[in-house]
Amino acid sequence: MVAKSKILKMLESYDKDKLTVATLCSHSSLQIFNGAKKEGFRTLGLAVKDNYRYYDAFPLGKPDEVMKLDSFEDLQDKADELLARNVIIIPHGSFVEYMGAPAFERMPVPTFGNRKVLGWESDRNKMREWLESAGIDMPEVIEDPKKIDRPVLVKYHGAKGGRGFFIAKDYNDFKMGIEADQPHTIQEYVLGTRYYLHYFYSPIKQDGFRVTDGTMELMSMDRRDESNIDEMYKLGAAEELKRLGHYPTFVVTGNVSVVIRESLLPKVLDMGEQVVMRSQELFGGMIGPFCLECIVTYKLQFKVFEISSRIVAGSNPFISGSPYSDLVELNMSTGRRISRELNLARQYDAFAKIIT
Ligand code: AMP
Repeated sequence: MVAKSKILKMLESYDKDKLTVATLCSHSSLQIFNGAKKEGFRTLGLAVKDNYRYYDAFPLGKPDEVMKLDSFEDLQDKADELLARNVIIIPHGSFVEYMGAPAFERMPVPTFGNRKVLGWESDRNKMREWLESAGIDMPEVIEDPKKIDRPVLVKYHGAKGGRGFFIAKDYNDFKMGIEADQPHTIQEYVLGTRYYLHYFYSPIKQDGFRVTDGTMELMSMDRRDESNIDEMYKLGAAEELKRLGHYPTFVVTGNVSVVIRESLLPKVLDMGEQVVMRSQELFGGMIGPFCLECIVTYKLQFKVFEISSRIVAGSNPFISGSPYSDLVELNMSTGRRISRELNLARQYDAFAKIIT
């Protein structure tokens, strides 16, 4: 991991009035660039190969400049160029996934957020340790496949976007589906409705919903469209479909805006607070956007199956704000909120609190 002291030294030489917000051209980049422009920053798109042409279709989300890269390794070599432009990198899910966590941790360029979170997030066991020790309820894990006594979801480690997950109802099902030698987790399949809760923790802002030394905002909520599980019911019973060779998959194809019952909001805020507080004890704290992915059962219990500690693509429907962020400030997307935090850091000389 690149030392924070080294990053802060780099920041000292930056012209803070000419910061450039940079991210990889993918995932939630339109929202990040749009938000950065609204907050008065220059923007730089990092494009691997030539997928930047499509930004012409969305002028208000198009970066001012594009840096073309042949591969992600290129990014390490371009560090000096990025530093010369006073670049702050904004990570998003695809950025970290495509680049790989170790390379991302080593990247010698100031980056928004705490990179130490990656170590706790990329390993499913450590993530569970973090969330459960924060008092968060999670789907039960079944260690021994012979003891499968209810529907379970088998998740391969490192599988992204639900690719390759499968549902099993008993040991036989499990044996039929499992790929030998692939590390996996067997989790109870929680029946309920899914909510992906988007939060923002600021260690700088002091007014609002206080959490330790900063404040937490509820930015928005989405639900993922997942193919083909979401539409499978139209063809008939899952068991019958299995016989015909159709298996459920959980591949994310889009996101829809949702709101949750208002009486559940205190629980939503409590969960965010607990996770932030525990992150501060474990690794110095999460900074900026994060998302709790959960299922609400008919007993109105929340089961959190994952955390994502950066901007999620599920925040893309809210480029002009959400029913929650509208109650803090109109027109505030998560992408814009990140750039607002950079402006606050400049105002209070507090970059050390939000950059690693
Ligand atoms: P994940 O990769 O952990 O985000 O999971 C991908 C998708 O699988 C989620 O968006 C949910 O639709 C589904 N899922 C994950 N865990 C569970 C669970 N324990 N019970 C039911 N569905 C789940």
